[in-house]
Amino acid sequence: MSDTTGKQSREWNYHPDLPLQDPSVFRWPPRPGFLLRWFARNWLTLSERVMMVILAVVTWLTLYPSLETAQSFAAGWILQTWALNMGLVIAVAGGLHWYFYMRKGQGMILKFDRRGQAKGNRLWSFSNQVHDNMFWSLTSGVFFLTAFQVVTMWLMANGIAPTITPASNPVWFVMTLVLLPIWSAFHFYWVHRLLHVPFLYKYVHSLHHRNVSIGPWSGFSMHPVEHLLYVSSLCIHWIVPTDPILLIFHVIYLGPGAAMTHTGYEDLLIKDKRRLALGTFYHQLHHRYYECNYGNQEMPWDRWFGTFHDGSDDATATTRARKKKMHA
Ligand SMILES: [Zn+2]
Ligand SMILES: [Zn+2]
Repeated sequence: MSDTTGKQSREWNYHPDLPLQDPSVFRWPPRPGFLLRWFARNWLTLSERVMMVILAVVTWLTLYPSLETAQSFAAGWILQTWALNMGLVIAVAGGLHWYFYMRKGQGMILKFDRRGQAKGNRLWSFSNQVHDNMFWSLTSGVFFLTAFQVVTMWLMANGIAPTITPASNPVWFVMTLVLLPIWSAFHFYWVHRLLHVPFLYKYVHSLHHRNVSIGPWSGFSMHPVEHLLYVSSLCIHWIVPTDPILLIFHVIYLGPGAAMTHTGYEDLLIKDKRRLALGTFYHQLHHRYYECNYGNQEMPWDRWFGTFHDGSDDATATTRARKKKMHA
């Protein structure tokens, strides 16, 4: 595939074919061929989702505390969970930042925005976008992620949250695995809509939105109230029968996974081939134009509620009008 250059415009260093198509899995009538390709692309290749599952299984078997340990709250296993989450966010966000922005491993190829990460600008704590983003991700972000995970582990260990095992319920386990990102996208859409209510936007969500030109550290850089709302997606494990591997997958999806969707690049290239999806133009448009694309591309909510920006000039005009009205 050599479709990596040439799609430039006044606004973008790179953009995919526009207008953006509708890749939602919820289109009616269902298209079996499309659904099969969607499933194969996400679950039958070494996609970011499959890598997260592998990471979840490995860390559960080797590093995270066991369910028995989690039966009562104690500093040891809670700190262990916190340290691991800290390590995972640093490894993923730090690794991607190093590759794309320090080593410049891909140069400008497939990078959406022409700009880099800001320095010497008082908008940011420490006058540095990356350091500011690191601060919010590693303090408030890792704290809330760990807090919800620890409480959920305790609920599971004490039989309050329903549990299964992959061996006893393999079908349910796999189904839940496939559905968790869909649940998370549903939850994210509504939390995100709420965060764009002018009051909450001004005092909470604008912190994330200072990132117009995004990088890996931008993804999980949020105001504590936004972290609280965003990570509450994990409460699904309090109701739906799951297990610690599914919980850890969900934790990785929300925390380190946010770095993967905010690299500022569309894909990771290896030997000129697109090997890993690392960001979508869909969310990049949200960071540029704000009042559009609150959800993610696979889910239909933005289309259903009329907030879809397909990358065209018309959509930009509509979005700007909506923004003006909302913040009037
Ligand atoms: Zn974002
Ligand atoms: Zn937003």
